[in-house]
Amino acid sequence: MNPLGLYIHIPYCLHKCGYCDFNSHKINTEEMDSYVTALLREMGHYAKGPAGEKLITTIFLGGGTPTTLPIHWLEEILQNIHKRFSVSDNCEITFEANPATVSLEPLQRMRTAGYNRISIGVQSFHEHELKLLDRVHSIEEIHMTVERAREAGFDNLSLDLMFALPHQTMALWEDNLAQALAKNPEHLSTYNLTIEPETAFHTLQAKGKLTLPPDDFQLEFYKKSIQTLTGAGYQHYEISNFCKPGKQCRHNLIYWNNDDTLGLGAGASSFLGGTRFKNYNLPSRYIREIGIAGTAVEFTEQLEPSRAMGETLMLGLRLKEGMAIPPFEERFQTSFHKTYDRVISSLTEKNLITLDDNRIALSPKGLFLADSVILEFIA
Ligand code: SF4
Repeated sequence: MNPLGLYIHIPYCLHKCGYCDFNSHKINTEEMDSYVTALLREMGHYAKGPAGEKLITTIFLGGGTPTTLPIHWLEEILQNIHKRFSVSDNCEITFEANPATVSLEPLQRMRTAGYNRISIGVQSFHEHELKLLDRVHSIEEIHMTVERAREAGFDNLSLDLMFALPHQTMALWEDNLAQALAKNPEHLSTYNLTIEPETAFHTLQAKGKLTLPPDDFQLEFYKKSIQTLTGAGYQHYEISNFCKPGKQCRHNLIYWNNDDTLGLGAGASSFLGGTRFKNYNLPSRYIREIGIAGTAVEFTEQLEPSRAMGETLMLGLRLKEGMAIPPFEERFQTSFHKTYDRVISSLTEKNLITLDDNRIALSPKGLFLADSVILEFIA
């Protein structure tokens, strides 16, 4: 059976953070029951199609904040997946949690239901940074959530941190890293704050009320993260991700390898057999469409081979080990070296990539310029 990564989107949050451009909406208790009912119906639709013939190897409940749903729905979602799809015995089953939304008993019930990985949106261990980021949780809630997750039996725990915040000093960032390491997480994701269009932060920036540190300073934060976390024994396996040996996020590896994924819920994207499709973002529209047709697809596109190749490369180069060339050539029935001859020569000359017959990867220098290097392959 071919493997499949299953993503479930829960679009509700306690509050919209100022920097957030995800498909997240303020919690709506009246709508939530209809939303999960629609989700289960959509699941049933895809289970009867080609996705139902695949083996689910990873499940990821993201958002939004999945833990804003009542616990019985979180249990029922997983039960329904098992009922309708083939799920591998060692399936990685992750859910995202925000510190203000989880107490011990629901965590215990989720662990019992079969969830085996928790990703906690910490962002910072400093109260004034949480306030600046417009987060709703407190430092105390971070500590409690990690403790409760461990007590509930989660032995695969990931923490998200954010760096290059306005006025953040290197000492503060080092302290955030140290406090995260003190929790002994299996996995860490570190992202720099970016200002996305149509966010509250974008408006503040346009009014001159919010300024990010300059690019060279952001790079120093990034270098510090790599130095500190690899120094503590973590593998730097993807541009923004670090893990203890063997604890990579297997679900995200499916995306970075550009393999098949099915996304259910409002705004969720899928990539199945070379076709990409995406659902309507607005939860109420999603619920309505599912009620009518059992699906809520807003658009579908069949990727041109050149674009599919570019995207596969773009995603594969995010991984520290880079992308294996033979499977790429097998998949696209083309010679990698001939297809990208001109770009390869230029990037090799600038010492931005490493390349042999079997693998292409970003060099240490290329890693710090990852976005612009990767763009060369899809320009
Ligand atoms: S908790 Fe996450 S998804 Fe929700 S608004 Fe904040 S950043 Fe967005």
